[in-house]
Amino acid sequence: MIFLKDSPDMEIIENNLAAIRKLISDYEAKYGRHPGSVHLLAASKSQSIEKITAAYHAGQRRFGENYLQEALSKMPALADKQIEWHFIGPVQSNKTRKIAENFSWVHGVDNMKIARRLNDQRPDQLPRLNICIEVNVSDEASKSGVRTDEVLPLAAYCMTLPRLQLRGLMTIPHEHENFSDQRKEFHKLYTLWHALNGKGILLDTLSMGMSGDFEAAIAEGSTMVRIGTAIFGKRGSI
Ligand SMILES: *Cc1c(COP(=O)(O)O)cnc(C)c1O
Repeated sequence: MIFLKDSPDMEIIENNLAAIRKLISDYEAKYGRHPGSVHLLAASKSQSIEKITAAYHAGQRRFGENYLQEALSKMPALADKQIEWHFIGPVQSNKTRKIAENFSWVHGVDNMKIARRLNDQRPDQLPRLNICIEVNVSDEASKSGVRTDEVLPLAAYCMTLPRLQLRGLMTIPHEHENFSDQRKEFHKLYTLWHALNGKGILLDTLSMGMSGDFEAAIAEGSTMVRIGTAIFGKRGSI
């Protein structure tokens, strides 16, 4: 029998996680952020149960999934673990019930109908569902995320829904190679987030930054980076 600890995945994932945690704390210091203010969400879409287990044994607790069917197929094998599941993919209205029943967080809320359905379908015995509003900060015609001028009305609406807890804003900006271009995109989300807080909509989460741009996101105030390939390696096809 081969024990998981001896598998190469385990060691690679453990090393990757340690390296990412070190970078996060280095960037917190470099950009004047409080130590521990940036949380790590492991984006585990298209990654196997074994790899998720390896990350879990290396201390990771927050995992993000994009595809509902894939997530539901992996969850039973991981049900004995204290995993906090985040739904980070686009939310289709026919998927809201299963999402509301199986996740602690949803990062991609971008319209009132989806918010209302998640609220109505969140089981009473579970705590409120934490949500982030997804914002399209890039000018390109992107399929997901609200425009910046739509954020305030959607946030105000979400605040009225008793089974949801509006935690913050999320974005997936257009990819830039250049560090200052990356920062510019994230700064737009930070500005919106700051303005909402000033209006009394108190938000503690800025979900931004992925493997290729999390330094820029931390520089601009991210409180949750969503990192996949830098932890798990290239995505498989499960
Ligand atoms: C896949 C994904 C990530 C992680 O991307 P990596 O580049 O692999 O770090 C983060 N956020 C969302 C919404 C994703 O779909």
